[in-house]
Amino acid sequence: MDARDIRSAYLQFFADRGHRAIERASLVPVGDPTTLFNGSGMQQLLPYLLGAEHPEGTRLTDSQPCVRVQDIEEVGDNRHTTFFEMLGNWSLGDYFKEQQIPWFWEFLTGVVGLDPARIFVSCFAGDERYSIPKDTESADVWMSMFAAAGIDAGRVDLGTEEHGGRVGSNGARIAFYGAKNWWCRAGSADAMPVGEPGGPDSEVFYLYPDVPHDTAYGEFCHQNCDCGRYIELGNSVFMQYVRTPDGFDTLPRRNVDYGGGLERIAAAAIDSPDVFRSSLLWPIVEKLEALTGATYASHTAAMRVVADHLRGAVFLAVDGVRPGNKEQGYVMRRLIRRAVRFAFDLGVEQNFVQDVVPTIAGLYRSAYPEVDRRHDEIIAVLVKEEKAFRQTLRRGLRELARMADGPVTGEELFVLYDTYGFPVELGVEEARTRGLTVSARWRTEFDAKMREQRERSRAANKMHL
Ligand code: ATP
Ligand code: MG
Repeated sequence: MDARDIRSAYLQFFADRGHRAIERASLVPVGDPTTLFNGSGMQQLLPYLLGAEHPEGTRLTDSQPCVRVQDIEEVGDNRHTTFFEMLGNWSLGDYFKEQQIPWFWEFLTGVVGLDPARIFVSCFAGDERYSIPKDTESADVWMSMFAAAGIDAGRVDLGTEEHGGRVGSNGARIAFYGAKNWWCRAGSADAMPVGEPGGPDSEVFYLYPDVPHDTAYGEFCHQNCDCGRYIELGNSVFMQYVRTPDGFDTLPRRNVDYGGGLERIAAAAIDSPDVFRSSLLWPIVEKLEALTGATYASHTAAMRVVADHLRGAVFLAVDGVRPGNKEQGYVMRRLIRRAVRFAFDLGVEQNFVQDVVPTIAGLYRSAYPEVDRRHDEIIAVLVKEEKAFRQTLRRGLRELARMADGPVTGEELFVLYDTYGFPVELGVEEARTRGLTVSARWRTEFDAKMREQRERSRAANKMHL
């Protein structure tokens, strides 16, 4: 199954089990100024998870395009992209653990065809301070799934990720962690205000036995080790508790919130730990190989950045974002300019975006017809931004080469930004890859120059009036 097959099979699987497929939300959250982008499937469902009645019922499913700018530094590894799709299913006061876990297991092993022997999970270890019990309910359901596949799952208490690295999970398929497996909006049980719901979650990982453990991440490997041997595919959150003045109570209405990465599941389906091998990214990589003559094998990280960032920018354009100097527009600018910069390292010195966008659009034609409908407009937006940056890219790089001595300051980064169009984070990154140190106060220095410039233009405007 390729990624598109998996997306539709997932939606069908849950439709067959009484779920309504809901419309995806825009990448730009509507009426929520607290976050720039939709970064998970549950974001648009939050009011319903908190108790409002959903017009489509108590069982919902979708595939939600997501943008996580916070993962931008991660892009280049085998499993993070700034843009990805999250498959989701929800129970609003309907089914719970005993149903969610077998369904997800059945989907992965029965529909996608993953090897049950390579599935590993995590469950909540409990929190003694608040008398929240260990989530043995989930673990027991997992045990029976494994047992039915002839696997003696084994359990291990790891507590923290750090402790996990010291002792390893030694083949136990069910590992218990504390805070890592507690979901709430506040981030931790301590920070939850009274009345706030939360609960344990249970993550599913796929083991890539050929990836060697890297001791840089801890002496021994375990589910949550970041070495890349175990890759997280999805996470089921079980909202079942509510914060009270002196602890936690159980909620009368319990919810399930599941989210899983489509590209990661699609990569697992072809037995690759590399999401860029999935059918939603690989054609972009191949296009880049054809355009540049460089190979993925020798330019892996740069190709991953270009492929991811252009795909993300295309989707932002679809959802009405335009490159600019603030908020969503700034992120889009950053993605496009960073893509152009990394493509430069692949030997691309001519405009190339117009050749890549059709490949990207083609991948989403059937699932998201709006990509096709706005095809020409999207190309125009991206090409314009590419041109604007390419004009100054070379000169900016030369300017950087001149900054060779002393730490690069926020003032210098401002020149790169203002004159040569380098988003400040890109300037910092560029300096660092050249082995230059960057002033510890670069952000403050840069912001001061920005303010100065804004005030200058305000004064100038006044004089014109
Ligand atoms: P990780 O620890 O691997 O970064 P996460 O804990 O941030 O994952 P969740 O917030 O639980 O992930 O998101 C649900 C699912 O979405 C993950 O299990 C994963 O499959 C997918 N996912 C999350 N972040 C990314 C990303 N940057 N690129 C691709 N898929 C992602
Ligand atoms: Mg993450």
